[in-house]
Amino acid sequence: MPQGRTYILGADGATWSVLSRLLREGRSPNFQRLVDEGVHGPLESVENMRSASAWTSMFTGCNPGKHGIYEFYEFLPQTYSLRYIHGGYKHVPGFWTYLESAGQTAGVINTPMTYPAEAIRGGYVIAGLDGPGKASPRFCFPDDFIARLEEKMGCEYVIEPGLTGAIARGRPEEAVELLRAELDSKHRALVTMLDSMPVDCLLFVFRSLDAAQHCFWKWMDPTHPKHAQCSAADVKRFGGVIDGVYERLDAALGDMLKRLGPDDHLMVISDHGFGHKCPVSSQLNQWLAAHGYLVYEEGGSKPNVVSKALKFVASHTSRGTKEKLARLLPGVRNWAQSKALFSGVDWSKTRVYSDAQFPRLRLNIAGREGQGIVDQAEAPALMEELRGKLREMRDTVSGEPIVRDVFFSSEIYKGTHTGPGEDILVRWREDIVIHGVQMPEGWASPEEELAVMPGEDPRVISGDHQIHGIFLGIGPAFRKGERIGAGLRLLDLTPTILHLQDVAIPGHMDGRVMKAAMNPAWLSDHPVRTASGAAPVDAASANGQTEYSEAEQKVLEDRLRSLGYIE
Ligand SMILES: [Zn+2]
Repeated sequence: MPQGRTYILGADGATWSVLSRLLREGRSPNFQRLVDEGVHGPLESVENMRSASAWTSMFTGCNPGKHGIYEFYEFLPQTYSLRYIHGGYKHVPGFWTYLESAGQTAGVINTPMTYPAEAIRGGYVIAGLDGPGKASPRFCFPDDFIARLEEKMGCEYVIEPGLTGAIARGRPEEAVELLRAELDSKHRALVTMLDSMPVDCLLFVFRSLDAAQHCFWKWMDPTHPKHAQCSAADVKRFGGVIDGVYERLDAALGDMLKRLGPDDHLMVISDHGFGHKCPVSSQLNQWLAAHGYLVYEEGGSKPNVVSKALKFVASHTSRGTKEKLARLLPGVRNWAQSKALFSGVDWSKTRVYSDAQFPRLRLNIAGREGQGIVDQAEAPALMEELRGKLREMRDTVSGEPIVRDVFFSSEIYKGTHTGPGEDILVRWREDIVIHGVQMPEGWASPEEELAVMPGEDPRVISGDHQIHGIFLGIGPAFRKGERIGAGLRLLDLTPTILHLQDVAIPGHMDGRVMKAAMNPAWLSDHPVRTASGAAPVDAASANGQTEYSEAEQKVLEDRLRSLGYIE
């Protein structure tokens, strides 16, 4: 058995570019203590940098090819639709399963892709944003956990700040209030758990920073292309919102440090870093059309009424109403969003397409996709051709190349669950400002497409994910006052947690114990143990396909109309 406990403070989206500045300015005393007395460095995300995929790799130790989660939704190629997925779709177990087998307890709070909450003996779970809401069955474990927690806290447990609606309505000051309320609630929940709900290992995730950085980046960062359009008064009012969230997290960290015993370990991590939003992600289908890879039916490239409906749902309803809607109309988002994204595409002439939410492409392969036309044998040549063309993409203003890397799925994902993901992943450059993509002769450079996914509306979103998040660790196992410049990966967290808790590392995991961050004396006293034995049983729950027939779609459309969501 381990001598101490392991705490992981998850700060979704925390990034060194902001944190380093706050450290220089002396505004993060508790982060500073971790820098001085512990180990720190950049933490490499999963290749696609999506929170759903990244957190699942974080808590399983496996690459997305093994756990099967690429986004909060996945492609259903037979019908060119999407479906929302949740933690029940992952194919490998979380670290808490191994702790439980070793007789230890775990708490897992607000982590994306942990819905439905798993039963952890002696422990507790509150699901993340893949869960519909507090009133849904299995949102937490035990069933009465949130009720018990709220009684101890003396206030409400707030799931998500839900900023985008307020920003879309042109009320950023409301978003600031929402953020403050959510941070107060989470901070109090964290302290309550530390003081009166002890477990051997606690993973507690704050999503506040991700939400704030998506929405407030342009006001903070003078190099952002939209910064110049912000009024001086707004820059003054909203330019410090993101810094304020870091300061609140620093205070939460301080409360954790106060409660840390001499044998305990604490790690602060983020699932990805942050920077400008690259507008080209949402221009990909136009770019594909301009190069002849995607063909629209006559007049079919405009977002239709369904996307309007969806934007209405996304930006004009309260979280409570959305939760009710999700329960009342299960799957409606899948249907509405697929329809909005892909309506108007002529599949009989289309070889490549994108969901245009992040930079990834899928080939319309015969036999694999519903109306596939690309022969499997032609796919490798087509992919190489695309790689070449994508690498030639240039910025509309500076003329500079904008693509840093182009990956094929087979190069980055290993395992039997690569099907729901992308065939090609593009990585934009992070070292330049990207304004848009130059289009071929005769094609106007498109305005940004109005995105149809909640939380991706370009009128609202000005920040986006980058590849390197943050890692800081403190405790007897970790080096003191050292920076590790490269090599720490999100994938390594689960093996590291298990090792700190004296549990052998299962052989199927892709991650490794973060030896580079550990002090050699501690490591020689605590050699890494690897578990022998069979690969884990597939953890995915048996979820049926939830496709809609034409008739069902009609019913849903009528229902949406009757509720006033579409005209
Ligand atoms: Zn995000």
